[in-house]
Amino acid sequence: MSRTSRLEYAYKGEKHTLREWSKITGITYGTLYSRILDHKWSLEDAFNKPVRKKKSKSDTKNIEMEKETPKIEVISSQIKGPKTKFNLSDDNYYSNEANLVYCSASQFKDFVGFPLRPGCEERALKAISGEYKQENTKALLQGSLLDALWENDDPDYIMERFPDCVSTRGVTKGQLKSEYQQVMDMYQRTLREEKFCAYMSGDKQTIMTGTIEGLDFKIKMDSFIDGKAIVDLKTTKSLDRNLRYYIPDSGERLPFYLAYGYDTQLAIYREIVRQNTGDKLRCYIAAVDKDAHPTCDIIELNNKLLDDALEHVKSHCNHIIMLKKGEIEPIRCERSECDYCRDTHKCQVISSEEFELSDE
Ligand SMILES: [Zn+2]
Repeated sequence: MSRTSRLEYAYKGEKHTLREWSKITGITYGTLYSRILDHKWSLEDAFNKPVRKKKSKSDTKNIEMEKETPKIEVISSQIKGPKTKFNLSDDNYYSNEANLVYCSASQFKDFVGFPLRPGCEERALKAISGEYKQENTKALLQGSLLDALWENDDPDYIMERFPDCVSTRGVTKGQLKSEYQQVMDMYQRTLREEKFCAYMSGDKQTIMTGTIEGLDFKIKMDSFIDGKAIVDLKTTKSLDRNLRYYIPDSGERLPFYLAYGYDTQLAIYREIVRQNTGDKLRCYIAAVDKDAHPTCDIIELNNKLLDDALEHVKSHCNHIIMLKKGEIEPIRCERSECDYCRDTHKCQVISSEEFELSDE
């Protein structure tokens, strides 16, 4: 399904491409690629050695950590935390019921906002009840495809999850649509980077729950390296160190990870993991950019940044609890960028003076 090379590997009298061997052996393409091309394993080993954990790729020894935090408890993909109210699983993680019981990093950002997108309390509540659905933008779609590829890059699995990814008509029939091909190129690019693969080698999509200032949270981590690190996979416009996003409300110019509130997200992850394991882990963004020649980096968010972000989270928890219980009325943002507020806007008769005059 992607532009892979025709290179074939002969083993026990059979010749197949790596993708075909992946199907035959049941080992993901990413693992085989890493074993054979990055780590130069023999085909015998690459095809037969057990994969350490179902959702785990290459081993994690390459990660340079200054000190190892003591292991307190082994976490696999099983869910930790209070189970009395709701049994959270892969199948119901994104359900309305789960969103009602648990806040998530994205729900928090819906309520409170992040620098590039102020929050809208009413929209956040309607999203929980299912009355408002966020549009599937190209950027969201690309992000979830990249997550899925790292989870399992078997073409059948990808086709099942993204049935629209192949063009069905015209001269491009049978080929990946361009926005998907772009993600495939980004994915292939990251596979060539040993460091990137090492940080992405943790348990994929690990779910945990916990409580911050009385508000129950659920988290789902892209790559959780027990006792070592929390890694979140992100696509971004460019990894140019000088690129800043202008924030109209504050006049600030912020790097992408602050403009999009990734510090808030990882502060929540770090705190929930700490509650489950006792380890305050290092937090990283595994970022790959959308340039025609994609490049990637691992960005560590420093502790001060995460501590500040956690304080910010804590200061809003009680308000969100009251909103979710219906004890206080949600505020509408009434911003022109808010789809929800636009769709539910009531036509008004207003004075011309309500339109602000430009300063310039
Ligand atoms: Zn709004």
